[in-house]
Amino acid sequence: MSEEEAYEFVKRTLEKERIIPYKVDELEVIRSVEQCINCGLCINHCPVVAAVGVDRFSGPRSIGIELSRSPPEFWSTADKVYLCTGCGTCREICPRNVNIPEVVNIVRARIFQHRPDLVPKGLHTLREVIAEHSLAFEPWDDKEEKTESRDMRLERLGLPYIPDRVDVGADVLFYTGCQAEERAQEVREAAKVILNHFDVSFTVLDEMSCCGLPASLIGDDATARSLARSLKKKVKDMGVKKVVTTCAGCTSNLSMLSERDEWNVPVYHMIEFLMDEIGPERLSGSLSKPSKLGNVKVTVHDPCHLIRHTSRLIMEYSLSILRLINGVEIQVSEAPDSCCGGGGLVAYHARDVADAVVKENLAAIVETGAERVVTPCPLCTAQIESRLYKSGSSVEVDDMTVFIAQRLSHQE
Ligand code: SF4
Ligand code: SF4
Repeated sequence: MSEEEAYEFVKRTLEKERIIPYKVDELEVIRSVEQCINCGLCINHCPVVAAVGVDRFSGPRSIGIELSRSPPEFWSTADKVYLCTGCGTCREICPRNVNIPEVVNIVRARIFQHRPDLVPKGLHTLREVIAEHSLAFEPWDDKEEKTESRDMRLERLGLPYIPDRVDVGADVLFYTGCQAEERAQEVREAAKVILNHFDVSFTVLDEMSCCGLPASLIGDDATARSLARSLKKKVKDMGVKKVVTTCAGCTSNLSMLSERDEWNVPVYHMIEFLMDEIGPERLSGSLSKPSKLGNVKVTVHDPCHLIRHTSRLIMEYSLSILRLINGVEIQVSEAPDSCCGGGGLVAYHARDVADAVVKENLAAIVETGAERVVTPCPLCTAQIESRLYKSGSSVEVDDMTVFIAQRLSHQE
């Protein structure tokens, strides 16, 4: 039998046995599972296990161990893999560097491809939105209403309106992200206020399109890859030198795409951009002036997508910036880095699980006695804000980009 015939024979046999070979880039992740020594640390630290117990979510080690080349075992994990928030705590704590969050993504992709009937309904609905609009949220039907909503938010926050710029050849692409584009418009507008304040040559996309992270979390690799290709073309066509975004998920995903797809353009979270490119001296010059907003006690929430998927340095930068702002007093939370439950698309199909996960976080926030919690991610902001409001707490929540823009705009 020739090599080619042998290959075809193996392929046919695998198909017949319903065994799906891994792609080259998946093998490294899968091999990490073999390193597991069953210590159980990941289970002890998983926020979903802590919130809902092992009967509902058997935990990271179980997902790793149940994984095999045999599809029926993938299918049996379907009621678990969609409850993982992708917080990355298990990977961080694991003494053997087992990459469970990536294993979860691989299993989700296999289920989506071969057993879409096992994908939660809420994720199918999201996929339809992404397929139709290339965005993770339904765009506003009425553009005038969208503008009115934007203006009301700006008025409430006392922020000026900086018109959008679509400028081929600008230095920086401000990538707005789906959440700030269609829901948290104040974050999108606040970012332009900051960039304008520091005279940054920036542009937005002519037409915003998703970075592909939600499609990838659903397991729809083909859509995620197609969105990534289209975004790379847009970035290249704009001729920008840097990409800046305000969302933690976009930061981690765009950083990965820039490296994987060779954009040759660095990606920054706004906080990183401010510290690395604007610099503490200029920041201090602008933020240390007294503000009409007065003194405020704040505590901080660390988004998982920044600290465990990008770099912990970004949250050190966040604290450094807060310390530069006149009138801000930081109250340290006992659990700033505990998951808010907003990741992994869990809230799209198991709201009760997402809400149970955030409880530890909320208790720690309230315990600090802070008046506001700030976090550099619109998704974490929305999740924490809605749950604090529901619990009757008076603690306010601010996306950090908005918090900074307000302090730049309300100086005495
Ligand atoms: S990524 Fe987070 S939620 Fe998912 S299994 Fe690991 S610790 Fe649990
Ligand atoms: S922490 Fe790592 S080595 Fe320990 S049980 Fe979990 S996956 Fe295995």
